[in-house]
Amino acid sequence: MLWILASLFFLWCAFREIRGSIVAPAGFDFPRPVSKSYLALVFGLAAVFAWPPVHTWYFQWLLSVKATELAENHRARVHCNTLFDTMLDPEMLASGHANPKTGRIVLQKPWCGTLMAYLRHPGRASHEELDSLDMFTHESMHIRGEMNEARTECEAVQRNYRAAKLLGVPDGTAKRNALEYYNVTYQLRGKIGGMQGAYYSDQCAPGKAMDEHLSDSTWAPL
Ligand SMILES: [Zn+2]
Repeated sequence: MLWILASLFFLWCAFREIRGSIVAPAGFDFPRPVSKSYLALVFGLAAVFAWPPVHTWYFQWLLSVKATELAENHRARVHCNTLFDTMLDPEMLASGHANPKTGRIVLQKPWCGTLMAYLRHPGRASHEELDSLDMFTHESMHIRGEMNEARTECEAVQRNYRAAKLLGVPDGTAKRNALEYYNVTYQLRGKIGGMQGAYYSDQCAPGKAMDEHLSDSTWAPL
């Protein structure tokens, strides 16, 4: 919001300058010529301040379209919380949450940024960046209709490969990233137990009860 206000302020500066060249400003007899360098500066600043919100809107739109696809056309609307949104969010302790009734997915600060970072360099993804991919797939599975956390997470691990490809990650990298999440982070959940254990099942494995036998499953042979 502050970014938009700053951007509008500089647009107003530009407007004032242009108006001054058409209508004589108060106290002057003639309009004064526009200063081109001043105009370039204020338009430039307006664009710089407009960029972060525009970029976030675009990213939310992209995630909404892809989440809807993952949720098999249950309409999803993704919102990236700012720090302020997160502080006011009753579920601020959850890094993300989803409501299948409204289709709304909320990703807390700073997880949208982490997911953006992952998509910039998927070939050298950190564990945290892979977590952000799984979080996106996991919340999409809630929109698809599953609310049991262990089943939701298992649906997500099988689709992380699909999700990464939908977000533009090259095929081989997407497969490697999705398998790494399953083999490392997911298995760790089972070992840690407690809260993390609620998101784990030993039946979430190739050929076991929770295997959906997707043709493009993370664990399907290529
Ligand atoms: Zn969940």
